[in-house]
Amino acid sequence: MTTASSEPESLAADPSAGTASGAEPATGARPASGARPVPRSTTVAAARPAAQRTRAQLADGREIIFFDDEPRRRTVQDRREISRPVGGNEMRYDPLLREWVAIAAARQHRTHLPATDQCPLCPSTPERATEVPQAHYDVVVFENRFPSFRGDTPVPEDLLSTTTAAQESAGLRQPGSGRCEVVCFTDQHTSQLGAVSVRRMRTVVDAWADRTAAMLAEPGVEQVYCFENRGEEIGVTLNHPHGQIYGYPFITPRTRTLLDSAADYHARRDADLFADILASEVSDGRRIVARTEHWTAFIPAWARWPVELHIYPHRAVERLPELTDAERDDFATLYLDLLRRGDKLFDSPLPYISGWQQAPASAEPGLMRLHLQLFSIRRAENKLKYLAGSESGMGVFINDIAPEETARRLVAIGPQTAESEAAQSGTADPVPTDSTPTDSTPADSPTEPTHSEETP
Ligand SMILES: [Zn+2]
Repeated sequence: MTTASSEPESLAADPSAGTASGAEPATGARPASGARPVPRSTTVAAARPAAQRTRAQLADGREIIFFDDEPRRRTVQDRREISRPVGGNEMRYDPLLREWVAIAAARQHRTHLPATDQCPLCPSTPERATEVPQAHYDVVVFENRFPSFRGDTPVPEDLLSTTTAAQESAGLRQPGSGRCEVVCFTDQHTSQLGAVSVRRMRTVVDAWADRTAAMLAEPGVEQVYCFENRGEEIGVTLNHPHGQIYGYPFITPRTRTLLDSAADYHARRDADLFADILASEVSDGRRIVARTEHWTAFIPAWARWPVELHIYPHRAVERLPELTDAERDDFATLYLDLLRRGDKLFDSPLPYISGWQQAPASAEPGLMRLHLQLFSIRRAENKLKYLAGSESGMGVFINDIAPEETARRLVAIGPQTAESEAAQSGTADPVPTDSTPTDSTPADSPTEPTHSEETP
C-alpha cells in the first residue's frame, strides 16, 4: 500500500527548463552513456496552461499523475496488494526490414473487455480498488501494468557494427526498453473523447505535452507517441475512454521514413516538405476539412485509409510541448468538432486510430513538423476495411474511396459543437454520455479482424 498527499503543481512554463510543461527539464537528463543528443525544446510556450498536475505512486511502484481542469488537492492511497511482474519484455531485430519487434509475453494475460463494473480505469470505490485510487478524476496518466515497452537501457547506436553477421542474421536481441502509459480522458465510463468539454480537451493536450517532455528525458526513450485506439473494431480491449502514450527506445519506422523524406526533399528543393504539403493542400482546397487560426485539417491526396485526417499546426513546431496556449486551445475546439463529424459520417460511431507524429529526441532539428494523423477502417455503414494481401503482405494500400469524396462529406456535415449536437438531438443535455462506442460492431463483420491489440 502506498499513500501520497500532494499539492497540485501548476504546469506553468519554466523558461529555464526549456519545456512548456514544468516537467523535468529535458536538457541534460540523458546519461552520458546515451550517445544521442538530448531533445531540444527551444520554443517556450503556454504561459498560462490550464491543467494542474499531481504526482503519486501506485502500490506496485508505478507512477500515476493527475491532470486536473482546476487546482485540486488529492490524497492518493492505493490499498491494493500488487507487485509488478518482472521480465517478459524483449526486443528482437528483424534484419530483413531493419526494424525492431517488441516481445511482451505478459500482455497475453491482460484484462480483455471486462464488464463495466470490473473496469480497471474507472475511479475506485470503497468496495473495489481500480488502477485509479481516487473517487473522481479529470485526466489521469499512469504506467501501463502490461507494457509493450519497459526498461531504461537505450539501444546501442553501434549495435550493428559491434555484432557479427551470424548474430545479425539470427535476430539481435535487446532487453526491453522504453515506457508505456495509459491516459484516461474522463472518469465517465460510458462517455467518449468527442463528448468531453473544450476545457477538458485542453487538459488532455496539456497532459500529452507534459508527458512528451518528461518521457523524452527518460534514458530509455527516443520517441514519444500519444495515441488513441477507439472502438472494438480497432482492437480496443477496454471500453473506458482512454488513450496511450508510448515511449519507444528507437525511432519508429514511419518516423524514420518521414525524416528521410523531409531531408531528401530539403536537399533537392531547398524547401520544407511539411510546409509545402500544407501550402499545396490549402491551394487546392478540395481536401481541406477545416481551417482555424492555428491549424488546418485535411485529407492528404494520397490517403491510404477510407477516412484519414491530418491536422497540421500553421507554425513549424516539432513536438507537443512547443505549442502555445492559443494553439492548444484552438486545437481542443477543432479536434472535438472533427471527432463529432467523424461520428456523423456513418450510422455508428467511427472506429479510429489517432496519434501525434512528433520529432524523436535525436532527430535533426527543423526536419519534422508536429502533426496528428487520424484514420479509420470504416469504409461504409456496415463495411470495414481489412488489411488483406496487398496491404499486409506487401505494404501497398488500396483505398476504395477518393480522398476528395470523404473530405466533401466531412465538410458537408458542418462544424459540430456541443451546442449544435444538443440542438440536433433536441435534448437539453448537450453531450450524449450514454452512447458507448461499443454497440457499433457491424452486423456483417464476417470475422474478428486480425489486428495488433495495442490496448492496455
Ligand atoms: Zn471504466
